[in-house]
Amino acid sequence: MKPHGPIPPGFAADDDAMLLIGGDRAEALVDAAGDTPLFVYDSAMLTARVAEWRAAMPDAVQLHYAMKANPYAPLLAFMARLVDGFDVASGGELKAAMDSGMAPAHISFAGPGKRDRELEAAIAAGATLNLESAGEADRALSIAARLGITPRLAVRVNPDFDLKGSGMKMGGGAKPFGVDAAEVPALARRLIASGADWRGFHIFAGSQALDAAAIADTQAQTVVLAGRLANEVGATPPLVNLGGGMGVPYFPADKAVDAAAVGTALAETLDGRDAVLADSSFAMELGRWLVAEAGVYLTRIVDRKTSHGETFLVTDGGLHHQLAASGNFGTVIRRNYPIALANRFGIEPTETATVVGCLCTPLDRLGDQVALPVAEVGDLVAIFQAGAYGASASPAAFLGQGSAREMLV
Ligand SMILES: *Cc1c(COP(=O)(O)O)cnc(C)c1O
Repeated sequence: MKPHGPIPPGFAADDDAMLLIGGDRAEALVDAAGDTPLFVYDSAMLTARVAEWRAAMPDAVQLHYAMKANPYAPLLAFMARLVDGFDVASGGELKAAMDSGMAPAHISFAGPGKRDRELEAAIAAGATLNLESAGEADRALSIAARLGITPRLAVRVNPDFDLKGSGMKMGGGAKPFGVDAAEVPALARRLIASGADWRGFHIFAGSQALDAAAIADTQAQTVVLAGRLANEVGATPPLVNLGGGMGVPYFPADKAVDAAAVGTALAETLDGRDAVLADSSFAMELGRWLVAEAGVYLTRIVDRKTSHGETFLVTDGGLHHQLAASGNFGTVIRRNYPIALANRFGIEPTETATVVGCLCTPLDRLGDQVALPVAEVGDLVAIFQAGAYGASASPAAFLGQGSAREMLV
């Protein structure tokens, strides 16, 4: 038997041991959706999560949703009413963000390799471009001049530090993201001199960290860096986007981030900020912390078999919807995501089984030697922490099994 990650708090079963999601029975949700596999996102959990963040963080800090974590249109429209801005990373995401009802002035667009038509769409809409290079700045300025529009431009900074303990490092050293800190002041001065509406800095040092002290330390370094750069520019940045980094517990020993501790430390950091930042606004951008826990992936067992003494439960889902749970999305060692039988939820495990997907590849494992109640064909498997980097971050075309259904309840 191998352990699985912690099932997020707040999930319970009814008297029939059927998992409830947003108060609805998992099996009834599958009926309503028409079939498995199905991603269900619980809107009440999204609301609670945003409220938890706001209670923990200083009032002055805005909350942005990094929509690459989950771009499902009904979820985006729901989030648009909860958060202060969306961060997008492609022209397609920009369009989805605008369709969600989020005002363009509260959309910022980061990401390497923005094509001219994507820059043009953002400038025309009045969204902020987080510039990733001097070359991108040149292209944005000339497109804005051609359109006769004052562009809203921020500089994404590649800081000289990264977020310790983070699952995905996106700052420090040679990176395709952002402008090296040493070159930022000259670029920002050039933007201001050109007449652009300079929006400030975007400083993102990493992702999926669980240690509040490491996040707080990175935020402190980020605010110091923003102050130093602003002094070198000779202007107050209207907005300093501090990045995000708050992760979620996917694996056995993982513990939830202490959001209150992050907030307390951030309040102190902001109290002590350089005078040049006195009138700046601040934002954090979060993806998975906001949406992962609200999502459950439901897949049905289509076969039960034994091979060399090991029990396999074969499902109609797999890595084509849940690449991360299979261990093939940025993890070095495969570990089990939180997993359960949705129709035997809370019942004591009595066997060890390996839950696999329906793809004809040994990579397609959703649970490796996990302890479960004895499962039968037709039972529903639930994979938790499925609200982020699931449907949109998995190779849905692989092996022709088709996309999963999605539903916001
Ligand atoms: C991916 C990304 C995020 C979101 O990361 P999470 O770990 O999902 O919170 C935020 N900002 C930028 C710039 C990103 O690339």
